[in-house]
Amino acid sequence: MSTGFGFDVMARDGRARRGRLRLAHGVVDTPAFMPVGTRGAVKALTMAQLHDLGADIMLANAYHLHLRPGDDAVARAGGLHAFTGWAKPILTDSGGFQVFSLAGRRTVSDEGVVFQSHLDGSARALSPESVADIQSRLGSDVAMVFDECTAWPVEREQAAAAMRRTLRWARRARDRFAAISSGRAPEVARPTPGQAQFGIVQGSTFKDLRDESVAGTLAVGFEAYAIGGLSVGEPPEVMYDIAGHTADQLPATAPRYLMGAGMPNDLVEAVGRGIDLFDCVLPTRNARNGQLFTRDGPISIKNARYAGDDGPPDAECQCPTCRSHSRAYLRHLFMAGEMSAATLNTAHNLHFYLDTMRQIRKAIEFGIFEDFKHAYLDRYTRRAHSLT
Ligand SMILES: [Zn+2]
Repeated sequence: MSTGFGFDVMARDGRARRGRLRLAHGVVDTPAFMPVGTRGAVKALTMAQLHDLGADIMLANAYHLHLRPGDDAVARAGGLHAFTGWAKPILTDSGGFQVFSLAGRRTVSDEGVVFQSHLDGSARALSPESVADIQSRLGSDVAMVFDECTAWPVEREQAAAAMRRTLRWARRARDRFAAISSGRAPEVARPTPGQAQFGIVQGSTFKDLRDESVAGTLAVGFEAYAIGGLSVGEPPEVMYDIAGHTADQLPATAPRYLMGAGMPNDLVEAVGRGIDLFDCVLPTRNARNGQLFTRDGPISIKNARYAGDDGPPDAECQCPTCRSHSRAYLRHLFMAGEMSAATLNTAHNLHFYLDTMRQIRKAIEFGIFEDFKHAYLDRYTRRAHSLT
């Protein structure tokens, strides 16, 4: 299937890979972090600000955009890129995670999921096919398959059932994607002809279920593979172990995406286990709650100790917030409820994440990733729990 999709691994250092991902709307240097713009916007930032921070790709959510403003409305506007003004690549998550979080307000069958809209309570239905159609109309560069997510901890039987249903859905999602891509479904708008589709490996923290999921997902065949069902409350060491175990079995020629992770130290650990792509709400959500990431660990800008602190959030950070503003001023903005507090904190945190990925890529190119990893983690975690 021709999608214009491509992935080149330019350098390796241990299990870490330095790659370049080609998508319909541009190139993404990997390992990469994707800022989360659930509803077609990264909260508190304009697209110009997101661009200036150096983000190569943004994540949006098909479930949220389907409910509001509706994928038909986005398609009429020419797709997400035209609608939002973001010209670089966009990955749309399917909404599986959101739907399965609606405990008590959804019914799952092999056909799909029937649920109540979180906006107005209306009855809605999603299937592997309809989610592929929605993402075609949205015109993202990458469409994720609709999967069944499990919480953690979960009984083995339940994890196995959800994983096997995800496999059956993967086949249907791929068939529908192929029909749309080859012009056999002309009724579905297709603003981005070169859209790619990623499969998702499930199986919770059971290694043999992960193995079964990898084999089944590879048998269907996708442009790339994501590891879902992690970063849902399990201990970090378990997440690293399962992510590494799964990544080792995925094709060396395809990108590997660890969904929903994580803290800065999680990104460094996962890159060392062969992961190429990340997304997480932590840098943006925590910014709005007053938590700023620094090279010496996170700080809470609300803390009274920063009231007289003339220094920037992070003395080595080159972001617009750190170049112009002190911790004392940022604390004042936060305590006063000024809107710019969210903007300035979000810009800093996203810059911190994107800069961490730039340092990771450079370290892999120079073949010094292990040294970088130990220095980064040592400094980041040394006082993490003492000075916040
Ligand atoms: Zn900064």
